[in-house]
Amino acid sequence: MVKMFIESLKNLTKKPETIGYPHTPSPEPKGYKGTILYDEELCIFCDKCEDICPPGAILFEIVDVENNKREYSYNPYLCIYCHACVDACPKADEGCLVQSETRLPPLGRNETLPKDKKLGYFVNRIEEAKDFDKKWDEFEKRARESREKLAEHKRLKKLKKQQEAKVKKEAEAKQQAEANK
Ligand code: SF4
Ligand code: SF4
Repeated sequence: MVKMFIESLKNLTKKPETIGYPHTPSPEPKGYKGTILYDEELCIFCDKCEDICPPGAILFEIVDVENNKREYSYNPYLCIYCHACVDACPKADEGCLVQSETRLPPLGRNETLPKDKKLGYFVNRIEEAKDFDKKWDEFEKRARESREKLAEHKRLKKLKKQQEAKVKKEAEAKQQAEANK
């Protein structure tokens, strides 16, 4: 009886084992697969993360075609948190692409998105959460078009090089023919 009384007293003063969900968010378990974080300084722009991502949650936009300058963007609400991009990244061990153990909160109409350059350019440029999906669709189209522009730029550059080489070769042949006269 005394033992039971002591035990009851202990339980009364002890911190509760439960949490006050939904007022207190439940903590993620250790090793939880959360939001992808990116470090531009370490990136070698190999595109492996973009190519492997099943839902297309990672996209690089070519913002300067001449210099092949790319910007990384990530959509945490498309991401299925599968870790494939991190596995594919050759610089992941150095921290270029990391899967954090926390996830961004659900996207409510009046919510403001956290600003952190590790979340990529798109998230950091979004003003209002309610526009997220619409703006992502627009961005996705723009990013794909920028790829086509880069491919066209490369094609024309190669063609120009080939033409220059042909003109040079013809001039050399002409010069040689003149010298042989
Ligand atoms: S965790 Fe999976 S879904 Fe999310 S960005 Fe990486 S590859 Fe894409
Ligand atoms: S796989 Fe890694 S190094 Fe390659 S583009 Fe993606 S983040 Fe950059």
